[in-house]
Amino acid sequence: MGTPDELGFDADALRVRYALERERRIRPDGSEQYQRAEGKFGYYAEDPYAEPGFTREPIRDRVDAVVIGGGFGGLLAGARLRQAGLERIRIIEKAGDFGGTWYWNRYPGIHCDVESYVYLPLLEEVGYLPQWKYSPGEEIRQHAMAIGRKFDLYADAFFQTGVRELRWDDGEWIVRTDREDEVRATYVVVSNGTLDHPKLPRIPGIEDFAGHTFHTSRWDYDYTGGDANGGLTGLADKRVAVIGTGATAIQVVPHVGRDAGHLYVFQRTPSSVDVRGNRPTDPEWAASLEPGWHSARRENFQALATGHQPETDLVDDAWTASGRLLGKIVATDANAHLEPEEWERIEELLDFGKMNELRARVDEIVADPATAELLKPWYRYGCKRPTFSDEYLQTFNRPNVTVVDTADHGGVERITENAIVVGGVEYEVDCIVFATGFAVGMSDVMTGRLPVHGRDGAGLLQSWSTSGVQTLHGFYSNGFPNLFHLGGLQNAPSVNYVHVLDEHAIHIGAVVEQARERGVKRVEPTVEAQRAWVETLRATSPERERYDAECTPGYYNNEGKPRGPRLTYGPGPAAFQRLLREWRSGDGINEVLGDEN
Ligand code: NDP
Repeated sequence: MGTPDELGFDADALRVRYALERERRIRPDGSEQYQRAEGKFGYYAEDPYAEPGFTREPIRDRVDAVVIGGGFGGLLAGARLRQAGLERIRIIEKAGDFGGTWYWNRYPGIHCDVESYVYLPLLEEVGYLPQWKYSPGEEIRQHAMAIGRKFDLYADAFFQTGVRELRWDDGEWIVRTDREDEVRATYVVVSNGTLDHPKLPRIPGIEDFAGHTFHTSRWDYDYTGGDANGGLTGLADKRVAVIGTGATAIQVVPHVGRDAGHLYVFQRTPSSVDVRGNRPTDPEWAASLEPGWHSARRENFQALATGHQPETDLVDDAWTASGRLLGKIVATDANAHLEPEEWERIEELLDFGKMNELRARVDEIVADPATAELLKPWYRYGCKRPTFSDEYLQTFNRPNVTVVDTADHGGVERITENAIVVGGVEYEVDCIVFATGFAVGMSDVMTGRLPVHGRDGAGLLQSWSTSGVQTLHGFYSNGFPNLFHLGGLQNAPSVNYVHVLDEHAIHIGAVVEQARERGVKRVEPTVEAQRAWVETLRATSPERERYDAECTPGYYNNEGKPRGPRLTYGPGPAAFQRLLREWRSGDGINEVLGDEN
């Protein structure tokens, strides 16, 4: 295993430390420590960016496809169905425009932490090159809208409209909405997001606070002044609390620290914060790009982020440098040639080395040793979403910024009319910003908020209640013809989620195109095909229960109470995409374009 002298660190001591840090944070109430943003916070359900009081007459008509959700998933489904030849495509979206998470999240500092040249989809089709290596949120939102225009998805879209029910009737879907619409559609794609419901901690007294509060996904610029680029002049004389230190807070804190009278950052678990290195797009590089560059770059990033080592690293950033450690976040077959114990041993040592490097980075940047100690992450790399910033740690060198460690108290203990209480100490504040994340993501179909009635009126969730979720490739289910799920269901996730969504949208588009070419009216997997897929997942799904059980709590491990395996395709996203390509160009496609059409 290597002695501390050989390794340069004491692996046993680190294991003990990680276990202690985990114990410090485990709460008996697990995910119950959170509440939906309701009651006093119910206004989060409203859309601050949309036309207030918008009304319209209910619409009854027929379209080729309804796509539920206008984020990148829905837009990509729309674009790929358009390429497949569909004419009337209706995206139905709760918000006032396209963009999904980039519509709702407009907090100061918002950027995508995956490189823009691989994250933003349809760059070559739209003819756009991002201006920065890591795009600000507004550029991403504008690109979402550009996709909507390019593929003519605005014409039939319903905004500020929620889908209430899907019902299969006489060979097509009836889609009912909260505006009393009744739309008939040949195909339905469900792509309504995963991290879209803001969540709040159930902190005693949270409703008593008389100052100002908001969640990061509903940033209140009327109160703070400024915009997503900063300049929060309204905070100059304010004492501001930010609760939470996840990927969002890492981007928010530098701005609030710069502009607030005083900033208290209430931290329970520090994030790992790696180098960012954002820079404007190099015009020479831009001019050198040849057609096809975008998919080549995405595939190269995907390979590196799943532990493979292609000859070149086109993105060359902290994600790709850590690719071999991301196997616990995304599936990979990069280490299939090693015995599992051997790989686990190598991976753990690499992980210790990486986290030591990140802890050393804290010491290099943060001047006060006690503050630096508080900001160090003590867990394995894949336990929490890795973050990247060249400003976050530096913010704690400011005299007006204080980190308050809440780990020994299970988080913030109490909120009073004018203060936050931790360890018996009251921190008086004027404003509380909740950077406390989102209810973990399942589509409205999977939670039952959107009932789906298939052939013979069967309910989708009811049909899965005894057998477990049954799909072919995560896209469709027997008994529910022409209904496609787009998102993280029974497939292979990736760090670059939008790339995965695009590959899946391409697949759906290709299947629909073939159905139309063959005159097949129903796209529906056979029972045998979906059973075989679930078996494949069971056989390949990565085992991460032990790893999860040793992680500090968070939404990755159901707050320290691992729920058991969520079936994913073990060989990883690139292998899954290959499998789909081979399936649709071979006989496989007959499994969904089969009988009596
Ligand atoms: P997270 O769920 O990651 O973070 C919530 C934070 O709130 C955690 O630090 C948590 O601490 C803390 N918290 C919760 N309750 C309490 C409490 N009672 N007292 C003190 N602290 C508390 O939410 P984010 O919004 O930061 O990120 C969510 C996801 O959004 C990310 O994981 C990422 O997938 C995505 N994202 C992506 C970005 C991108 O650039 N691509 C940018 C931002 C977000 P603890 O960890 O101890 O539970």
